Amino acid sequence: MPKILIADDESTNVLYLGELLKRDYEVFVAKDGKTALELAASVIPDLVLMDVMMPGIDGYQACIELKRNPLTADIPVIFITARSDADDVVRGFDAGGEDYITKPFNPQELHARVRTHLELKQARERLEEMNRRLASALEQMETMARVDPLTGLANRRYLLDRLQQETARSLRHGTGLSVAMVDIDDFKMINDTHGHVCGDLVLKQTAAIITESMRKEDMASRWGGEEFLLVFPETPLPGAAVIAEKIRAAVEASEVRYDGMALTITITVGVAQYRHEAGIDENIRRADDAMYRGKRENKNRVILAE
Ligand code: GH3
Ligand code: MG
Ligand code: MG
Repeated sequence: MPKILIADDESTNVLYLGELLKRDYEVFVAKDGKTALELAASVIPDLVLMDVMMPGIDGYQACIELKRNPLTADIPVIFITARSDADDVVRGFDAGGEDYITKPFNPQELHARVRTHLELKQARERLEEMNRRLASALEQMETMARVDPLTGLANRRYLLDRLQQETARSLRHGTGLSVAMVDIDDFKMINDTHGHVCGDLVLKQTAAIITESMRKEDMASRWGGEEFLLVFPETPLPGAAVIAEKIRAAVEASEVRYDGMALTITITVGVAQYRHEAGIDENIRRADDAMYRGKRENKNRVILAE
């Protein structure tokens, strides 16, 4: 049952309103403005029927304070009063009231207005809930658009966006920028020998080690199957070579535990310092070529593009 708070200092009014409403609503009563505010904050009624003239804090003031408190601001307030001048009505709306009923009132009119404002409040709440859900779905979609679900690394598209920004920054500031292509060695054999679940675990763990081994300015992405493209901003080739070697050694040193086995994984890395006279694709290809050179030279190594 929706909850209605009646704020009125006159017992006869309270009794009469209570009789009218108690069949359809849970009714709470406050005999002055201060009590009305306290009760509203603790009960959080769905609607307040507010008398204007009350001792202490009057109805207008109580309404203003109700609307000022975030906890009670959304509760609709209907003023019920004998004062029916246009000025009084306007003052009620200025105080933030939703509606105004003058005494003596018709019980059916009271019911109709109460129902209308309860329905409006519900509609508002449904809309807000829908907005919240939309916002969260949008956020999820934005994440999905830039993250590889298996490894949690950036995906190819997102990394390319970031790389574009980094090339511009590097050109502006004249700082070195390097990229590295990482490829897991003999990954097909891991899949073929131990299954895809094991392969996925290897991918996840390798991604985690790469992330842990890099600085926070560096970026890692899942470039394709078992390939990762890394970007090292403000890092000329020698520095990038050091980080790449650190990653290679960390991957080799860690074990992937699967099904009671401890597997050793190795990677081959090709590193290239970005050349601004060439485009992004060409620079990535240079890192890729270096990586393939490493594959031909027995894998598990870091090769620098000239
Ligand atoms: P190399 O040392 O020369 O890199 O050999 P490799 O076996 O690692 O390379 P190859 O390109 O022959 O095989 C890559 C394999 O990666 C083939 C493909 O089935 C597998 N793969 C690609 N994506 C995924 C994935 O998301 N999960 C799993 N489990 N396997 C994948
Ligand atoms: Mg491979
Ligand atoms: Mg490959």
